[in-house]
Amino acid sequence: MPQFALQYAQVQQHIQQACEKSGRAATSVQLLAVSKTHPASAITAFYQLGQRAFGENYLQEALDKIEQLKQLSIEWHFIGHVQRNKTKHLAENFAWVHGVDRLIIAERLSNQRPENLAPLNLCLQVNIDDQESKDGCRVDEVADLVAQISQLPNIQLRGLMVIPKPEHSAAFAQTKQLFDQVKARHHHPEQWDTLSMGMSGDLDAAIAAGATIVRIGTALFGARNYNT
Ligand SMILES: *Cc1c(COP(=O)(O)O)cnc(C)c1O
Repeated sequence: MPQFALQYAQVQQHIQQACEKSGRAATSVQLLAVSKTHPASAITAFYQLGQRAFGENYLQEALDKIEQLKQLSIEWHFIGHVQRNKTKHLAENFAWVHGVDRLIIAERLSNQRPENLAPLNLCLQVNIDDQESKDGCRVDEVADLVAQISQLPNIQLRGLMVIPKPEHSAAFAQTKQLFDQVKARHHHPEQWDTLSMGMSGDLDAAIAAGATIVRIGTALFGARNYNT
């Protein structure tokens, strides 16, 4: 627990310094605490330190924790790959879904979002550096997908999400460029405001390029027990 407090302070300071270096306001970058593989008790510890946004990758694991922690006002983000048959659970339980890369997924999330909840926030995942193994749409699909997904009623498409290859920080600047191109042609540019990029190992480069949400697991919670 005291260790979490220290790591939390260090990560916040790290973000602040990265913002200063690139002349950005510290408030322009949101810390998403990636809690996959870590128990509900660890999430509670960070919650008590003031953290509210948590990211999970695995649906069943996430649903168990959401149930266990339902008395807390946590903003849950799903950052894993979205399978078509899992969209209902995502629509019902999360505030954000970062890994959308096909129209059918966005349509299902929109249809399945309960009426009593605010629109579901989405990021379009782009395979910015053409990795064979990676999810995400192609760069040349982005404009059409944004135009189509933005029409859907119960969701709010907020921006882009990327997971570039390690050591490939040039991809962050390419993502920012793509983000700006979309914004310039967007019907509601003020709603296009999110760049979800940067993890424990590359948050400096991501913030320098314009990240607005950094997804941090290891630097906060320590190493994961199983690999992802
Ligand atoms: C696991 C994961 C993270 C966090 O990675 P760390 O290196 O532990 O900070 C961020 N984003 C996604 C999509 C992840 O799967």
